[in-house]
Amino acid sequence: MGRIRQLSQSLINKIAAGEVIERPASVVKELMENAVDAGATRIDVAVETGGVDLVRVADNGSGIAPDDLPLAVASHATSKLAEADDLFCVRTLGFRGEALASIGEVSRLLVRSRTPDSPSGYQIEVNGGRVFEVAPCGCPVGTSIEVRQLFFNTPVRRKFLRSTQTELGHVSEAFTRVALADPTLHCTLRHNDRAMFELSASDGWIERIGRFFGRELAEALIWVESTQGPIRLAGYAAHPGQTRSHNRMQYLFLNRRAIRDRSLQHALAEAYRGLIMTGRYPIAFLSLELPPDEVDVNVHPTKLEVRFQDSGRLYSQVLSTLRSKFLATDLNTRVPSATPDPSETGIDPLQAVAMRQQVVDWAKGKVSGWGEQETPPILTPAARSSYGDSSSPRAPLELTRLDRSWAPAGRPTEPDDPFGPIPENPATAPTVAEVSTPVEAAPPEPLGGQPLHALQVHNRYLVAESDEGMLVIDQHALHERILYEHLRQRVAQGSIEAQQLLVPEPVDLTPAESAAALEQRDVLARLGLKIEPFGGDTILVASYPAMLANINPGEILRGLVECLLAGGKTPDHRDLFDELLHTVACKAAIKAGDRLSPAEITSLLEQRHLIEDAHHCPHGRPTALVFTREQLDKHFKRV
Ligand code: ADP
Ligand code: MG
Repeated sequence: MGRIRQLSQSLINKIAAGEVIERPASVVKELMENAVDAGATRIDVAVETGGVDLVRVADNGSGIAPDDLPLAVASHATSKLAEADDLFCVRTLGFRGEALASIGEVSRLLVRSRTPDSPSGYQIEVNGGRVFEVAPCGCPVGTSIEVRQLFFNTPVRRKFLRSTQTELGHVSEAFTRVALADPTLHCTLRHNDRAMFELSASDGWIERIGRFFGRELAEALIWVESTQGPIRLAGYAAHPGQTRSHNRMQYLFLNRRAIRDRSLQHALAEAYRGLIMTGRYPIAFLSLELPPDEVDVNVHPTKLEVRFQDSGRLYSQVLSTLRSKFLATDLNTRVPSATPDPSETGIDPLQAVAMRQQVVDWAKGKVSGWGEQETPPILTPAARSSYGDSSSPRAPLELTRLDRSWAPAGRPTEPDDPFGPIPENPATAPTVAEVSTPVEAAPPEPLGGQPLHALQVHNRYLVAESDEGMLVIDQHALHERILYEHLRQRVAQGSIEAQQLLVPEPVDLTPAESAAALEQRDVLARLGLKIEPFGGDTILVASYPAMLANINPGEILRGLVECLLAGGKTPDHRDLFDELLHTVACKAAIKAGDRLSPAEITSLLEQRHLIEDAHHCPHGRPTALVFTREQLDKHFKRV
């Protein structure tokens, strides 16, 4: 190590830029926040090439006086904090005085501004940290800031930028957060001269949410509000029928600043506990107002995270407000229209039956010509939902019969002293639930020639005898696995056929989702899902995988996009393909709650032997638990 040296201002700025400016979206966020702080009622954002070539944010706020222009672009210079105590009572979005200096260090920055009392505007330019003289210019009252060629002088940073679509998705998300925080702001967003959003000041909050995320979601929102002491909570929580597989649709605003907060997200999850499936996340738009001295916003460079003085109190306010609202609301009267939960309810039972049969047939190769010459007639999603035989509540489950010829003959089961001694004191006999960690079942050997029996418990689980001991099988998980394997084998023999829609179906996505979908357009097309941009964040689905004839194309797309956005690495074609098969298998499988006939139970149990790795459903949940005889014996104190 060499001597300790004071860093140059330029290097300090570059380091600060590293914290605050990660990508074009960070520029959009910082500039829009500055406009809000300047009291603007209108903000126009324009970006080119996902914001990498240009971000321009123009506002009608208070403007910057010419003398202040050099300070505005200098680091640690702000008009928002006067003395140290102000830091603990921040009422503005910015206060660190770092954004413009950081941006100027890593781009070509041009600030033009005019205060209301000034006859003309003034501008200042910063080029990779080099500040130019203030010069007069013509401009309307307010401020317009242009940021060109972000990271042109920091190639390493530039390399981390993703495709235009992805960057645009982030830009759009940053825009969304500011626009949602205050629906009275008139905001617009343009990309390469195409209007993406034109939001007028007269929007209510719910209209604005609808503009971003679709009417379907907006219609499923439930208003919640409460005031406890100085804390006011208000906003919308979505009907539990509307969920996502990720928590990115949980928008929290604190004094009009979009924040992330694990504790509050946890409160949200708690409020929905029992109303939605595990693994799904609720959707909410909640705004909190509390005295600025009760929260520390100076804990995170981009202020995305904050620290509450009394986070326990907020937690319980969010939880109790939502819970009591849900209790007072008849959640059943509103039929959730979108994204029905795959493995539980939500899907029209008749549709489910038809779909299940179709998938089973398809997997068995029964449906001739699917995706070959005679594709089935295309139904619109509405027509599709009425598909099915209304006379019978559920068609019997028909699965490929087990071909026993290949199977080794299993040992016959021999009941071993079924009337053996019962525990002396039944009250002290341990219950099954206490059995020490049951191990996951390995596929049992076929029981040569014997029909397989099981007891169906709560229309959910099958309890069966196996050579090893006793099996408890999750009927949905097992059937899902069976279908998945059939599908996989079937598809492995040929490619995925696309089914053209006569009328392409528009699907509303979030900005990040639509960006991800468009970016992976080619991969999706290989799966039979052809999509086109359709203005805003609406995507047109032009074709879909033929094997999914009864699943709403929007749902297929959402499922795949969730997979695209989940986790760090970009999923490849195989991952997506797998996701697709999971979706079909999950949708088509019998559900928890379906009563099965003895024949169906036998059929399911037989299929179990055909499936490698049958002890896990495709989502990784176990399909069965085994209680070995030794465990049972030990437990009942027989050994
Ligand atoms: P901060 O927002 O933390 O104060 P910035 O670097 O973002 O720091 O901005 C520096 C200063 O420039 C602000 O304090 C403000 O006085 C001025 N400024 C920046 N953008 C605008 C704008 N759009 N309208 C009016 N003043 C602005
Ligand atoms: Mg700022």
